[in-house]
Order: sequence, then structure tokens, then C-alpha cells
Amino acid sequence: MNEEIIPMQPLSPESPSQWTHADSIQLYGVQKWGAGYFDISEDGLAEVCIEKADGTLKVPIMDIVDGMKARGMEMPTVLRIRNVLDDRIRALNEAFREAIEQYGYRNQYMGVFPIKVNQQCHVVEEIAVFGQNYRHGLEAGSKAELIIALASKRHPESLIICNGYKDSEFIDLGLFAREMGYPCIFVLETQKELELVLERSDALNIEPILGIRIRSNIAVEGYWSKDSGEQSIFGLSTVALMDVVKTLRSADKLHCLQLLHCHLGSQIPNIRDIRNGVEEACRYYAGLIQEGAAMGYLDLGGGLAVDYEGSRSTSAYSMNYQLTEYCVNIVETICETLDATGISHPVIVTESGRATVSYSSMLLFNILHVRGHLPGELPASLPKGSHKLIQNLWEVHEGFDAARYQEYYNDTIFYSDKIRDLFRRGEVSLSERALGDNLRLALLEKLSQCVNADESPPPEMLSLPAQLADVYYGNFSLFQSLPDIWAINHVFPVMPIHRLNEEPGQNAVLADLTCDSDGRIDRFILNDEIQSTLKLHSLEEDKDYHLAVFLVGAYQETLGDLHNLFGDTNVVSVYIKDDGSIDYEREFEGDCIGDVLQYVEYDPKHMAEQFRKQAEEAVRLGKISANRRKRMMKAFAESLNGYTYFEKEDLS
Ligand code: PLP
Repeated sequence: MNEEIIPMQPLSPESPSQWTHADSIQLYGVQKWGAGYFDISEDGLAEVCIEKADGTLKVPIMDIVDGMKARGMEMPTVLRIRNVLDDRIRALNEAFREAIEQYGYRNQYMGVFPIKVNQQCHVVEEIAVFGQNYRHGLEAGSKAELIIALASKRHPESLIICNGYKDSEFIDLGLFAREMGYPCIFVLETQKELELVLERSDALNIEPILGIRIRSNIAVEGYWSKDSGEQSIFGLSTVALMDVVKTLRSADKLHCLQLLHCHLGSQIPNIRDIRNGVEEACRYYAGLIQEGAAMGYLDLGGGLAVDYEGSRSTSAYSMNYQLTEYCVNIVETICETLDATGISHPVIVTESGRATVSYSSMLLFNILHVRGHLPGELPASLPKGSHKLIQNLWEVHEGFDAARYQEYYNDTIFYSDKIRDLFRRGEVSLSERALGDNLRLALLEKLSQCVNADESPPPEMLSLPAQLADVYYGNFSLFQSLPDIWAINHVFPVMPIHRLNEEPGQNAVLADLTCDSDGRIDRFILNDEIQSTLKLHSLEEDKDYHLAVFLVGAYQETLGDLHNLFGDTNVVSVYIKDDGSIDYEREFEGDCIGDVLQYVEYDPKHMAEQFRKQAEEAVRLGKISANRRKRMMKAFAESLNGYTYFEKEDLS
């Protein structure tokens, strides 16, 4: 297919049409996936919305970006908005409080944040500090995460839940926390773990609080369905669970068993699965009390979903319920199941990860250039002596009839493929091949419009608009910043953060900076559907075009990798103050090239020395001057200290 760089457009807006911000709101679905945190202003700017005592404050994201740039922070950057993170913790705790009040539940909610979902210091610190208002605690799945939890400035009564496999160092740390009076709970993942916990507890003379993770039978919908059901690799079977009870009874430690843990999976789209899971968990809880365990906490794990698509459906990246409904369903199900048995209501614990942190982070990046598939200008008539196949393709073009477009599609592909075959065999010249390709492209453009206008186009032609989409090259690495798009086909909302009162006329797919064909985004939320292309504006000369990928606070920052040695991006954390001004609370510079080289075992000093030797040799051989060598060494050193992403020249 013909590929060309699309020239920058003149400065005038793309379309002085009737397009308004309301059309962009509908097109990108921002009010559906934004959960009230994002909107678009009349002057076409994406906004972050913050609830304050006297109303909603709306701050254009471009204002934040302009401030970042003025401070020297370039794209790509992860932007974290602290107000949004705080509000998620507030919303979760308030929703449980209200449900508890509504049902006369006789105990409380104590949430924990699973550190693995976003381990970044500022995020965890903020959750611990703001979480003090609600005694919101932390969940640790490894020694390193337990160290983060223990060193955090959290409420002293907030829970620390220890999941994952534990060695004696891990257990000792948790026991020391117990000795200091903190409610640090070991969730047993295996029977073997119990022996070690009891051994360490005896050795240190510190009594543990124990939890037990069950392997639920409830198979849930969604991508993470394997976390539960018979095939789950986590948790204890009923047989193993009874063995644990037996061991604890004979060690006279049944009073230590206080928590039942049941994690059904992440991102559970269907509330009915959650209800079933809670019901089953309650039965286990009641069963353990009947066996003589002390109990007191019911930990329902993660699973509270995020509606990335905004479709309110049971598709993998959506959810058919709201936060309030989630809390009400849990509280109601516990009441219904346990009240009949006369068992006291437990403390409700959840380990909501993505629902806590997704909304507060977005990836901001600029577009570097656009590669289009526009056909070139066709000649007024066919050159004399053109090959018969070129003549046939020309006739298809000249006689195009939209009413019979599938027939014209078949002819287009047939003749143009034949022309390419003949070119390979040397029977068609380069200029004829170019004319054939150009005719093909012009026809595919027309055909694509027919496909778009048809309510039920032929399946083989469905991918045509995507094939003809322009490629917008973004200044980011998918593998570093959005790994789930690559790994599990995750869908995140993407839209420009400005020019949203201009009609976006281009069908686009996004490509990142890596030289990898997987480094592309071609699934977008558009007009309430998942589509293979995104509507974007054409670039304006000498002006940046900024996009944001929203709802990326969960898992993306921690799972990213160094493909092509693109490192961590810049990170900026802001707080929107009551007067609407922006406090740039924290700035972290992304990795420089020297940093990423060290991650892969290079020594930048040694590399600079090697380069110096090569340059000196070139001077000795008379290939370059000593002065040139000086300039080269400077460029080498500056590159080692530079950002791994595309940097604009600083002309200031
Ligand atoms: N708790 C446990 C044990 C998990 O394995 C996970 C993630 O899979 C979570 C909590 C967080 O789940 P989510 O991000 O869906 O809330």
C-alpha cells in the first residue's frame, strides 16, 4: 500500500463546521467512562473535575501540561491527580458506610490497598496518609511490599494483610509488627506455610493473626476468571482447609484463625458473580466458626471493576454495576447468609486495587508525525500503451458504482494483485506499478466509504477502514506505559486533550516509538463501541498535538518493561487547590539513557571511555580533527544523560 508522510496542515482549524464540544463528548464517550472525573469544556479542552465543598472545579488538562512544560517536563509524562486518588478512597469507604447503615450491619468496613497494583511511592504513601481518615490499610504480596507497608505512615489500627508465599524473613517481619500492636494478618496460601508460621511464632514468642485463603468454586466472567474455580492456582481446597483447622486445634491455636480470604478475580464485570462469591465465602466463614475458629474478618479480595469502556455491560473491560450497588450487594448478602445462622457480622475487608487507583493517572504524549495512505493525483487519462491490466483497473475506477461496491472491491483486488505479480516478474515497469497502486488506493478509499455507510457490510471488507487508517506516531512506548494493551488486549479510553471543538476528520491508529509491530493501539472506545480506528485531528504546523490515555493508574506503571530501552517516563503529581490553582507537588524525571543501560548491565563510564578511544583513534588516523572529537564526546555524554524518548530541541 502506498505510504506517505502527510504534510502538516495550514494553521486554520480543520473544520469551521458545526462540530461542538458536545459532539466530542458523544464521540469519545468521556462522560460514560470518566466516572465524573473528566469532561470536555465548550472551548474544546479535556478537563479534570474535582468536587469541592462549593461545587465542581473543572481544570483543563492542557493547563496542567503547559505548566509542566514551563517547568521543563517533556512528553511523555504520567500525570497523577492526587484529588482523584483521595476521592476514590473516600468514595469506596463512604459507599460501604452507607450500605452498612442502610442494612443495620453490626460491624464495620476496613479496606486495604493491594500494593502490587501500583507500588509507586507517592501513590502508596498517599493512600496510607489519606486512608488514615478511614483506617484504610495495605495488602502486601511479597517481602518488599511488606516493608513498604510497615514503613508507611498509616493509621495504627489499619490492617496489613499479608498474601503470597512467605519465608521465615517475611513471617518474622509480620510478627514484629504484631508485637508492636499492629493488626498484621498472615493469609495462609498453603498448608506448608502454617508449619513455618507456627515455628517462627514459637521461636519469637509472638502470637500471629491468621487468615486462610479458600479456592472458591465460583467461576466468574471476565479476563481473570482463572483466579477462581476448580482450576485456580490460589487458595486451599476444602480438604486442605480442614487439615489446617486440625493442625491449629492440636496446637491450641484456633483462636489465631480470624480471617477468611476469598479473591474471585480482578475486574469482575458481572455483579451476580460477586454476589455468588460472597454467599459461598460466608458459608466457609460460618463453617470455620462451627469448627471453633475465632474469626472476625471476611476478606473478599479485589474484583471491583472499572468501566474502561463506559458501556455498563458484562464485557471484560466494563461492569454491569456501580460502586454503591457493589457495597450494598456485599453487605446484604452477608446479612442474609449469616443472620440465619446467628453468627455475628464480621469486619468486611476488600482489597480493591484498580477501582482505587485507575482514575488518578493518565499517560500524556504528543504526536510526532502522521503517515497517511492518501492516493496521489491520478493522470487525466491513461498513458498510451498502458498494460492491459492497468487499463482494466482504470475502467473499474472510472465506472465505479457504489450500489455494486462488493463487485468493484473484488475487481480492484484481483487486478491490482495481478499487476504486483507482473511487476515481480519484470513484466510491468515501476511507473506502471506505481499507477496501479495509486488506482488501488483511490478505489479502496471509495470502497471504505461504502463500507462505512452500509449497515451490514460484507465481513471480508470490515477491516477496510482500519487498513486505510492514518498511522499517528506517538511519543511513548506501549511496552513501558501500557503493557496490558499488548499483553491482554486491554482497552483504555484515548482522546485528544485539546481541539475538541473541531471535528476530528482523520481515521487513525496509534503507533509507539518502538520498532515493534505490536507497539500499536488499534482498539478504541468510539461512539459507544470498540472500534479499530480513532477519530483524530490533522496536525497543525509547528503546534503540538496532545493525546491522553486515561484510567492507567492500575498495573500499567509496574508491569511495564524496557523494550527498545525506552525507560520510565516522567511523572508529575498535582493537587488542584480550592481556588482552582494547580500545585505541582512532585516531579520525577524519567529514566535517562545511562539509567536504562545500567539496568541491562552496561557501565556508562566504561562506554564513554570506549567511545573516547575510538574517537582518539580516528584523530590519530586523520579521519577527524581533535576539535571534532571534542564535539562528539560532548554529544555522547549529553545523550547518556538525556531522556530515552523523543526530545524536542531546546532553543531557549
Ligand atoms: N487481592 C488479590 C489477592 C489479588 O490477586 C488482586 C489482583 O488480582 C487484587 C487483590 C486486586 O484486584 P483488583 O485490582 O481487581 O481490585
